[in-house]
Amino acid sequence: MTTTAPGALTGGPALPQRRELRTAVPGPRSLELQERRAAAVARGVSSTMPVYAAAAGGGVLVDVDGNSFIDLGSGIAVTTVGNSHPQVVADAGAALARFTHTCFMITPYEGYVQLAEELAAVTPGDHDKRTALFNSGAEAVENAVKIARYATGRSAVAVVDHAYHGRTNLTMALTAKNMPYKDGFGPFAPEVYRAPTSYPFRDGLDGPAAAARTIEVLERSAGANRLAALLIEPIQGEGGFVVPAPGFLAALAAWCREHGIVFIADEVQTGIARTGAWFACDHEEVVPDLVTMAKGMGGGLPIAAVTGRAELVDAVHPGGLGGTYGGNPVACAAALAALGAVRDDGLIGRAREIADHALPRLRQLGDPRIGDVRGRGAMIGVEFVRPGTDEPDAELAKAVAGACHRAGVIVLTCGTWGNVVRLLPPLAIPQDLLVEGLDVLEEALRSA
Ligand SMILES: *Cc1c(COP(=O)(O)O)cnc(C)c1O
Repeated sequence: MTTTAPGALTGGPALPQRRELRTAVPGPRSLELQERRAAAVARGVSSTMPVYAAAAGGGVLVDVDGNSFIDLGSGIAVTTVGNSHPQVVADAGAALARFTHTCFMITPYEGYVQLAEELAAVTPGDHDKRTALFNSGAEAVENAVKIARYATGRSAVAVVDHAYHGRTNLTMALTAKNMPYKDGFGPFAPEVYRAPTSYPFRDGLDGPAAAARTIEVLERSAGANRLAALLIEPIQGEGGFVVPAPGFLAALAAWCREHGIVFIADEVQTGIARTGAWFACDHEEVVPDLVTMAKGMGGGLPIAAVTGRAELVDAVHPGGLGGTYGGNPVACAAALAALGAVRDDGLIGRAREIADHALPRLRQLGDPRIGDVRGRGAMIGVEFVRPGTDEPDAELAKAVAGACHRAGVIVLTCGTWGNVVRLLPPLAIPQDLLVEGLDVLEEALRSA
């Protein structure tokens, strides 16, 4: 048996903001834990890097060997306000000491109501809204579909290529990619129809043309009159950080409105300031009927939401939505603090600054192996291809990410072909660390 944390490290922004490697990566304590893990933890739950966390905050994560990494991953877009943000720690801590749980479906509490009010204020559109809280992104997506089906009396659901919506049975069906998400886990939920999306680097179509193609496929395969919902990520996350061509989302939203189809924006990854707006839909002034959110919402605590048109959400009978833990009081306090931090710390502007620095810099590299650099705010993807083609180069993405990891920078990959390196820094990252992280990424690419 070993202890896991060196000393009494405290996370949050006070953690020294530097990249520093004291051992090889992974170090000896991480290797010991890795061995224990292999004998105790399911192999199906895998990790990007075998380094075990001891503390995190601002723009760094410190591991159990004392190595300090620049964090360009935010635990997959979750610690948007920064890990262990002081206000999140204070407010969640106070809530924790008051009561840990009552079940909102048994005896409700104010935090849930206040969070619903806040989400109504920040989500797109000024219509009357209602919110239901859940624990994970997949659960939010499932419930958005439940609401859309109930409210429309229809069963079919439309999704697009490269979509990622979660790992539960329905959300596996809604997800596009087989490995690792679906393989061997079927049969999947029926009445899911998939159409092409807008992927400017690969299809060269403008927004309206791409939307016309999507709509044609859906009308032919599902029929507009049978569709309860169109579910779409306004910028695709796991599928490759694909930013659709301008006008694509608006054209789909208009088609949905015309045919009584509920337009669900899955903002689980893009929501809560990540893209330099409260929600990615805001960039194009698209107003979804329902919005799902989770990752960046709770400052690191598990919480998720569906917020949308009152007449849709309130169509469902009492008792039809909910769950034991949904909207846990500690998670609600954390989420309220995180939303406050977005405002108080100026994080929407900070996300835009990150894009303004990183996008031109990455585009200027002019490396023929880079097919595309894209993103909004602090959600940036670099798609690798074989020079002169659009053939995906997953090995290169993997090699670049691996070199970054060994040099003390956490980056993730994504994409249908696994050939995209994605950057999701916490918005609390100091500028010098962001610059240094990108230096390391450039060097990793040069030497790969
Ligand atoms: C991560 C993600 C989900 C699933 O969220 P979980 O909390 O992992 O269940 C759903 N949709 C999108 C767009 C995501 O990025």
